[in-house]
Amino acid sequence: MNILMVTSEAVPFAKTGGLADAVSALSVALSKLGHDVRVVLPRYYRIDRNKLEHVSGPMGVHCGYQEIWTGVYSAVLPDSTVPVYFIDHEQSYGRDGIYGIPEEPDFNDNPQRFSLLGHAALQLCRKIGWMPDIVHAHDWAAALAPILLKFHEAYSDFSATASVFTIHNIGYQGIYGKHLYPHTALSWDNFYAAGFEDWDRMNFLKAALVSSDKLTTVSPTYAKEIQRPEYGFRMDGILRYRSSDLTGILNGVDTGTWNPGKDKLIPVKYTAKTIEKKAENKKALQKRMGLPQNPDVPLIGMVTRLADQKGVSELFGPSYGSAHRICTEIDLQMVVLGSGEPWCEQELSTLNHTLPNFSAYIGYDDSLSHLIEAGADFFLMPSRYEPCGLNQMYSLMYGTIPIVRKTGGLVDTVENYNEQTGEGTGFILDHLTPQSIYDTVGWAAYAWYNKRDHVREMQIRGMNKKFGWDVSAKQYEDVYKNALLDKKR
Ligand code: ADP
Repeated sequence: MNILMVTSEAVPFAKTGGLADAVSALSVALSKLGHDVRVVLPRYYRIDRNKLEHVSGPMGVHCGYQEIWTGVYSAVLPDSTVPVYFIDHEQSYGRDGIYGIPEEPDFNDNPQRFSLLGHAALQLCRKIGWMPDIVHAHDWAAALAPILLKFHEAYSDFSATASVFTIHNIGYQGIYGKHLYPHTALSWDNFYAAGFEDWDRMNFLKAALVSSDKLTTVSPTYAKEIQRPEYGFRMDGILRYRSSDLTGILNGVDTGTWNPGKDKLIPVKYTAKTIEKKAENKKALQKRMGLPQNPDVPLIGMVTRLADQKGVSELFGPSYGSAHRICTEIDLQMVVLGSGEPWCEQELSTLNHTLPNFSAYIGYDDSLSHLIEAGADFFLMPSRYEPCGLNQMYSLMYGTIPIVRKTGGLVDTVENYNEQTGEGTGFILDHLTPQSIYDTVGWAAYAWYNKRDHVREMQIRGMNKKFGWDVSAKQYEDVYKNALLDKKR
């Protein structure tokens, strides 16, 4: 099959979150299955033109009020032959930031910027003389491509192309004032309640949910959750209506980067067979974070965006969060790596100064995130919601027992500990409250001190799990086949 991935992020070129990892890894995995996969994204200012190939000739894109002239550049994804095309347009992408910058987190011309991406992705296919069987768009910023295939008469030459839209996080929908709607170049006929319109505003994600042939999201449990009001961010009704077209497929892990047996960013490599060497990494982590180098005390790690989605209010909220109690009442150490909401960064600094067994590093640090996965005994992830989650999978692979909330991809990857039998791979908390985080961390510490054989068995069980992309890529292949079959009916 010819598969076009339309996205606003793809590693190693542009990344703000898991979406960027997923798009590139899935593209490479599908290409290994024999498909002709190509990726298209904007050429943001940070992507150096000198490192790209220029695709000759300007490309005119009919977009809203005007024809926009763009340049096209190309590269390939690392260790693959998957081509990546970059849409170059100074006015739209010639600035810092993918969706925004700290002073303006959501650029006010994002509807224009990402409408251009949708139109340009399809125009690119004509330019390079390559017709996709599947247009696969990821999250709201790429949503216009499938919407255009369904609603815009200028793309009738794509009538045999089926569309797939993946929800990586339904919390981000691309909602803007309707005065910007003309930038999509769609007719006002499509601005109605079962289309683009959302309480008199425009909503990119909603329009893609209505118009794409098939929908996917990044774990089976999240696929069910988003059909409920508590998790659906107001899209639950549409998703229930489209439930027969919605599939949850777990993201894989980039095992080239995340593998304790080969990880170049950790002091001592280890496998399930040599797990005792993990202790050296614990020592190194304690040293780096300025904690006593005590092998006997359980070390709880955390690597996270400091955002409400991650349960940080219940953990670090001033006066009511449970972190202070956890660190003073339970005999353990805790390390946190994260950046995000200012109140939370402030709170972490305060805990840093007041608790001798707590250490936080505020910022983004790739090598420290690897050291935490390798050196910690437990990994805490009390997410409010988690479409898939990567860190709990990294933790399992690194023999670091996850303590997670019962939501989304965390449910699909972690099995709860059974104290009687010793079964399970982690510790699961049901409700997101400061008390239940405290109780579950306490339970993990209890197991550490009293059931060390169980703890070791759980570590090994986790390390033997497989989270590669090959299985997921085959599931996407099935979705594509079904989309094309439906199209022919
Ligand atoms: P999300 O995409 O919602 O942030 P995921 O668990 O799916 O959550 O992916 C987060 C990724 O970002 C992981 O690879 C994690 O290690 C990484 N990450 C998050 N915060 C930091 C940080 N401060 N420093 C280094 N890596 C981080």
